[in-house]
Amino acid sequence: MRAAMIAGKEKMIVTQVHDPAPDGNKVIIKTKLAGVTGYDTTLWELGDITEETVPGHEIVGVVEDPGSRSDLKAGDRVTVLPLAACLECDFCKSGQENLCYKNRNTPGKSKTAHGTFSEYFEARPEFVKKVPDKFSDFEALMLSPAATAYHMVKEIGVQPGWNVLISGGGVMGALVAMWCKFFGAKYIGVFEKNRTRALNIMDYGEVNRIFDPEDREIIDLILSDTRGLHAMFECSGNARFMNTGILTLRRNSTIATLSMYKKSAPINFFMLGQKLIRIRTFNAHTPADFDKVVELVTANPKKLNLKRYYSDSVGLKDLQRVFEELTRDEHEHEKVVVDKF
Ligand SMILES: [Zn+2]
Repeated sequence: MRAAMIAGKEKMIVTQVHDPAPDGNKVIIKTKLAGVTGYDTTLWELGDITEETVPGHEIVGVVEDPGSRSDLKAGDRVTVLPLAACLECDFCKSGQENLCYKNRNTPGKSKTAHGTFSEYFEARPEFVKKVPDKFSDFEALMLSPAATAYHMVKEIGVQPGWNVLISGGGVMGALVAMWCKFFGAKYIGVFEKNRTRALNIMDYGEVNRIFDPEDREIIDLILSDTRGLHAMFECSGNARFMNTGILTLRRNSTIATLSMYKKSAPINFFMLGQKLIRIRTFNAHTPADFDKVVELVTANPKKLNLKRYYSDSVGLKDLQRVFEELTRDEHEHEKVVVDKF
């Protein structure tokens, strides 16, 4: 079958890999959509993945072989949670499957398991989720990133009346803004330099103000709007912006970070200590988060609109160009999906 592979630093190729073989356990899925994420472009930038490995960890497809899932049949539309959890350790047994150390082998995020940028995908049966008919393929693809954003916002405990700052107005930042508003945030500010992304996220209607993170007046502006933030969500991959957050956060507040950092950054620990600010890091979501998001999106389709993030559909052969574009400061993509294999 055809698949895209990272064949070195900033080099994506399309090649043939072995066809998946039914083994009575794994669910074999014919890929309809595979989502492009910041995690994929970071792996590509680093080139730190073997030439044997296919990236991509988001998928919507149809079941080709249901394996050990007796509740599934060929032709069913499914998505797959981006986890490789053991389901046996203390974390897994306490509903924190995203913390399982086995997730280092998550397909498309590791050096050991092929991801979703391929014609077919072999999934662990435990992580395959049937897609409700009411969701389009694209909405179904967005359920997992929406669950990752939901997980962060829920864990931070955003409350009605809160003032929050989001660093990075890409798809992940926009999903965090959506959940902050859903949980009642009163003020949502966003750091975003890219004009297209800034216009898009303002258009969604949840954000009060966009800031240029390099603007020297930014701290005064945020403080005059809010008298101090309750939380900051760092979704840009630029840890440097946390220092602006630290100066605008209240005492006893929290910084949540999601992004995969490409390098270390100096953080103002003096002010962190003065203001008793916590930093919490996040990765992925749990199966329970996914189920909750399906329930909430089904009940609140207008407030939790997952369709709006779509920007382009591309083929495997276009990924090299798309990744080059996505890693430039100025680009006009939002959520890019692969739909031609
Ligand atoms: Zn585990």
